[in-house]
Amino acid sequence: MKSFMKFVFVLTAAVAVSAFSLPSVSASEQAEAVQSPNQTAAVQNASSKEQVKKVKQKKTKKSKKKAAQVRPASTEKADTYQKGQAAHDDGLSVYNPEKDAAPSEGLVIEETNFHFTEPLLVRPKTDMIVIHHVGIPDGDTPASAIHRAHLANGWAGIGYHYVIRKNGVIERGRPLAVVGAHAYGENYHTVGINVTGNFDKEVPTDAQMKSLTELVTALCRIYHIDPGPATIVGHRDVNSTDCPGKNLYRLLPQLRDDVELNLYAEKLKGIHLLKLKKYETEKP
Ligand SMILES: [Zn+2]
Repeated sequence: MKSFMKFVFVLTAAVAVSAFSLPSVSASEQAEAVQSPNQTAAVQNASSKEQVKKVKQKKTKKSKKKAAQVRPASTEKADTYQKGQAAHDDGLSVYNPEKDAAPSEGLVIEETNFHFTEPLLVRPKTDMIVIHHVGIPDGDTPASAIHRAHLANGWAGIGYHYVIRKNGVIERGRPLAVVGAHAYGENYHTVGINVTGNFDKEVPTDAQMKSLTELVTALCRIYHIDPGPATIVGHRDVNSTDCPGKNLYRLLPQLRDDVELNLYAEKLKGIHLLKLKKYETEKP
């Protein structure tokens, strides 16, 4: 009997210890530029083994840092702060529009000239484009409203690089060359595009898809990105979230194909022009 009690005690202790050491997948661990409550819910419900493993690794890493470090209230800010520290260590420079501006997209972009409350850092590399939706509220949310909401969260300002309105107008968020705040853990190599709407309910307009295709084509050209499932992704591909909604997410394969076709057409056009030039110079 005594040994049975001991067994029960050990078992209880083991369960208690494992419960404490299991990472609680809290919003603060997983958070990114959370746009909507349904995304937050998805974040909190994150439960796949892979995510738990990731969080566990992160936790271990973090616990090696100053344990007493107080986390800011805003989850995104916590990310930005920690990444900011890392970035500082890696020698990332503060964005200077005079010398760091990205090449032009060659498209009409509505400039917004937002003021950011913290210095923006130059993104060291770009090999992925992340597509988002607003989620809640539904409908047509301007970049200015997202900027205000993200400021209210205590962030530096809008986290996306672009916002595509229902009528297809592309608005600028952050400057293209800087580190965004839209996909937790992936901001240092990605560009974030928000297509406004709630695509769990709505369907993107033709104008939005046309602008998205043109914009992603331009970004692939600028950064020499090969369009594919590893380079043009939905937010849900990199974080635990429903974003960009099922009705936009299911259009991503078509988007990749269209972008590939556009790039191919541009290349052919380039070759054709070269040939013409050669022909002209060869002509007596
Ligand atoms: Zn998103």
